[in-house]
Amino acid sequence: MADVLVILNPVAGNARPERVYPALTRHLARASYEVYETTGEEDLPTLVRERRAQGFGTFVAIGGDGTVRAVAAGLVGSQACLGIVPAGTSNLLAHDAGIPERLDAALALIAGGGPIMRLDAMQIGETFAFLNVSLGLSVGVLRDADPQRKRKLGRLAYLWSGIKNLAAVGVQTAHLSIDGVRHDLRATEVLVTNCPSLGAPELSLSGEVRMGDGRIEIVTFRTRHLVDYLSILLDLALRRPRQRRNVRTFDVFSHVIIETDAPTQVQVDGDLIGATPVTVRVVPGAVRLIAPRAARRRPLTGRPEAF
Ligand SMILES: [Mg+2]
Repeated sequence: MADVLVILNPVAGNARPERVYPALTRHLARASYEVYETTGEEDLPTLVRERRAQGFGTFVAIGGDGTVRAVAAGLVGSQACLGIVPAGTSNLLAHDAGIPERLDAALALIAGGGPIMRLDAMQIGETFAFLNVSLGLSVGVLRDADPQRKRKLGRLAYLWSGIKNLAAVGVQTAHLSIDGVRHDLRATEVLVTNCPSLGAPELSLSGEVRMGDGRIEIVTFRTRHLVDYLSILLDLALRRPRQRRNVRTFDVFSHVIIETDAPTQVQVDGDLIGATPVTVRVVPGAVRLIAPRAARRRPLTGRPEAF
């Protein structure tokens, strides 16, 4: 195993340095490794790129989705490998990639060096995202998703904040240019996603959405009434595949340009980055991720079901 840089977020929800260090000694003793503890002040993607140039070949992110995304962003297009030890309050990327939650199991997988999944990325300007980009209802839900309430109520927190936002978010016309083909539609939500989980592992698209198949998916909803919202949420929570009149799905192989009549806030992997218009590019196989679930490719003609 090439030199390993372990990037530990010591304040991540479930990272306990007093447990992490002995576990690193147990599992990585045969490799040459170094630990970098994040402060929250650094530009992590740049740090990772610098360390790559110094010869580190494996980067282990110990933290939540924020840490993982920043480390992954620094690895885009390189031959270096990413290992993940899930330690955040949200570990969606690790969850969707099938990475074990337990510290020892996650480190044993990394120490074994494989299998490798070629994780796709989404590029928005200079930013790389790995989970989802969205506008509409989800942005309001994200804006007031209070971590404390989320911990206490679990998925009910989304229900609460969805109901609250439903009244505020109007149906609007979105103009999507998908790989050069234009679609105009009425939507309360436009979601561009690289992975099945939507903000919580309990809310998940069908297994057809894969993180390493060289394409991203777009799901648009039109929910004018509370009952629409509740039934979509219920389908997601129960993982019920269903074709709905008010839900549309599209595959994106190269890029999508999203425009709306009025500028609308956009979130990228949980951060509010600005407003429409936004262009999302697919970067296929951007990062070599150590994950137990090998990326199966879907047939090119296959259409994902709605949910
Ligand atoms: Mg995909």
